[in-house]
Amino acid sequence: MSAEQPRTIGFICPKCRQSVIVERSFFSLTAAPTRIVCPCGGSYFQTEYQGDRFVVEAPCVSCGGRHIAHCPSDAFLHQKALSFTCGKTGLDCCCVGEREDVYRAMRRLEQAVDQMDADKDPEQEGTFLNGLVMEEMLGEIRDIAARGGVRCTCGSKQWTLQVRYSSIQLDCARCGGMLRLSAATMDDLNDLCCKDELVIRGAADGTR
Ligand SMILES: [Zn+2]
Ligand SMILES: [Zn+2]
Ligand SMILES: [Zn+2]
Repeated sequence: MSAEQPRTIGFICPKCRQSVIVERSFFSLTAAPTRIVCPCGGSYFQTEYQGDRFVVEAPCVSCGGRHIAHCPSDAFLHQKALSFTCGKTGLDCCCVGEREDVYRAMRRLEQAVDQMDADKDPEQEGTFLNGLVMEEMLGEIRDIAARGGVRCTCGSKQWTLQVRYSSIQLDCARCGGMLRLSAATMDDLNDLCCKDELVIRGAADGTR
């Protein structure tokens, strides 16, 4: 057995807006509470191992607050990439996982934050983080839907759509399962464009 890969943790500091990405070993994550402080000293990420779960507390670059999440230990230590999402803006506030996946997620988040900063026009308030991406993605979803390509793992093809600031959510009308698509960057759009179908994970579908 090879040694366990260290886990990579990333977040963007709301104060200085730099990405902070570090690695921690399984041992150090489970041995004691972990605190990762931005070099500017203006924010920190914290996590504490509690046996079956990790309690994660992260600064949030998109709303400026801090968010607390509970995450099953197995996912925290083994999942390729886990993102914790801000309930207010729908953007991710931190990411934990394998190095490459976390770097990729952080690059995407940086783009979204750049876009957010570029859009600081007060007239834009309350619309979308990236209006162009949102518009294209809604069109793409309409096309996929027109081909009958949207379904839920529960078997239903009835669904509703909610449009948020930086994401689109599809809800299964039968079981309440949901699929959230990030709609902030060109990468999000490109991801959607190569899909033939969108599958909502049914509420009874255990994983996650
Ligand atoms: Zn900072
Ligand atoms: Zn937030
Ligand atoms: Zn369903």
